[in-house]
Amino acid sequence: MFIADGHCDTLTEAVDKHTGLVKNVLHWDISRASEYDAFIQVLAIFQDSEKNKPSVSQTEYYIKKAEAVQKQAEKFMLAKDAEQIKKAVDERMVCGILAVEGGDCLNGDIDNLLKLYDMGIRIMTLTWNNANELGDGCYQTLHGGLTPFGREIVRLMQSMGMIVDVSHADEKTFWDCIEECREPVIASHSNVRAVYDHPRNLYDDQIRAIAKTKGVIGINFYTEFIGPSKMNDVDGLLRHIEHLCTVAGEDIVAIGADFDGVESLPEQIHGVQDLDVLFNSLAHLNYSDRVIRKIAGENLLRVFNDVLC
Ligand SMILES: [Zn+2]
Repeated sequence: MFIADGHCDTLTEAVDKHTGLVKNVLHWDISRASEYDAFIQVLAIFQDSEKNKPSVSQTEYYIKKAEAVQKQAEKFMLAKDAEQIKKAVDERMVCGILAVEGGDCLNGDIDNLLKLYDMGIRIMTLTWNNANELGDGCYQTLHGGLTPFGREIVRLMQSMGMIVDVSHADEKTFWDCIEECREPVIASHSNVRAVYDHPRNLYDDQIRAIAKTKGVIGINFYTEFIGPSKMNDVDGLLRHIEHLCTVAGEDIVAIGADFDGVESLPEQIHGVQDLDVLFNSLAHLNYSDRVIRKIAGENLLRVFNDVLC
């Protein structure tokens, strides 16, 4: 099976904990991902603004580490555009796409977005949980949505061929962003409010709005976002997927497992090696192979092909 996963925190976690990316005891590593036919992994770079002031130079520090792995690991490559992604998939590689989680590292300077692009960043989550110079996050509202700077960044990202990611955004930020968007938008790692009412999950009208842009929503494996205890297992994940399919159709569903960004996963899933548990469960629910392939990777690949060209 070909897999594309829209979000993990493994790069920052592996660098900070000195575990390496090739083989480690984290949720995700290149060795386990390479067991699948081909594997595209969005590698998010997250900087906790409560610990240090996020910066572009700190982002670059993590990118250099990923580039060093690319030089050493035979099966791993970083991709910046659709052509490189195609090469990775054809050659059955593990392919990293670099992302920034939270536009805090821009420090309100538009030139910093150009620097991120030049360094290879192709996806940016506008905010993390906190508000930043771009707008409000789902746990902190200071601006009343997206700021004028945030709107400028969204427009510039789309004109440059970067993917706008609305996971973690406050509701008003989300709608302001949709207003500015002309290209597919993703929620790389978010679940469904109608299934479980959590501030990190999306309302049905938000889901439909993302579908209208031809974007995708990556299902998040964090038990806290799936449901109350005893309902936050693989069956819980299936409820979120079922709801997305009902509200917006099969083309919107992707995987955004949030590996190494979360404290707990559903019981049967210990890391990237166990993704088949989810796909087999979908098959039991009579999802066709064609739809399972879309959810596993093809839908997200479609967005990469549309935007990263
Ligand atoms: Zn996140």
